[in-house]
Order: sequence, then structure tokens, then C-alpha cells
Amino acid sequence: MDKDTVQDGVVVSIEYTLHVDGELLDSSDGQGPLQFLAGYGNIVPGLESEMMGMKIGDSKHVIVQPADGYGEFDEQAFMQAPKDQFPKEMPLEVGTELTVRDSEDNMQMARIDGIEGDTVTLNFNHPLAGDELHFYVKVISLREPNEEELAHGHVHEDGHHH
Ligand code: ZN
Repeated sequence: MDKDTVQDGVVVSIEYTLHVDGELLDSSDGQGPLQFLAGYGNIVPGLESEMMGMKIGDSKHVIVQPADGYGEFDEQAFMQAPKDQFPKEMPLEVGTELTVRDSEDNMQMARIDGIEGDTVTLNFNHPLAGDELHFYVKVISLREPNEEELAHGHVHEDGHHH
């Protein structure tokens, strides 16, 4: 099979920057290229779909709308809970991130949005929900995944297994 372009089932290494509202939020500078297995939901869908067909050395600016990024901001995705329902050792401060088990036993990421008296308000929106994402990406390398990576649907970097 011809694996010289970005396509499902190929491990892609990219250099990238992410800007939101003109502010640099994330970048591969200093941490090395990001590797991901394409076609398995490892990066935001709006970026992945725009990268399909790119070759090594190709670069591109991609603007991703919230629906294809981290989702629309949901005004309903807030919940209030009394302070005494949180673990004693947890710092109850605005911005603290925590995971909450929902009624269907799924773990949900949340952040403390506000504290008033004994009531804590949790925000279940992703921090970048509702944001237009401005990516710059450059394809550094492409390779075939090994069998284990393909079975897991993600890359194992430096022999690191998870
Ligand atoms: Zn794995």
C-alpha cells in the first residue's frame, strides 16, 4: 500500500502551533513533533480531515470551527454540588480540574467554575469549547504503525506502553 501521504492507518509526525484569539496556546516547539495514528480520533476531527493527503514537508494553516474541534460551549453543562461532597484533600479553588462519575458510570472531566458559600459550581465544557482553533501544521514524517499500535488505535512512543 502507498503510505506517502497522510491517510487513515498511518503514523503521522507533525510540527504544529495552536492559536486561539491570536494567543499561542500550544506548540511542538521544545517538546518535539507530535506523533499520532491517523483515522482513530487521536486529534480533533477538523484538523485531521484537513490534513488528509498531505505529504512529508507540506505545511498548512487550518481553521477549525468549534463543532469540529472541542465542541460548542454548552450553557447547560454546569452542575452545582455541596462542598462536603468533594474529597477533603481536594483544593476547592476556581480552575481546579477533577473527574466526576456520572449516573451512567462514565468519568467526566470538569473544572470548578465558582464557589459560593457551601455550593461549588462545576463546568463540564472542555476548556476550548466554543473556540475557533487556528492550527499551523507541518508534516515531518510518515510511517506504518506496528501491529500493537494498530490494535490499540494509538502510537506507542519510545517503547512507552499505555
Ligand atoms: Zn497502547
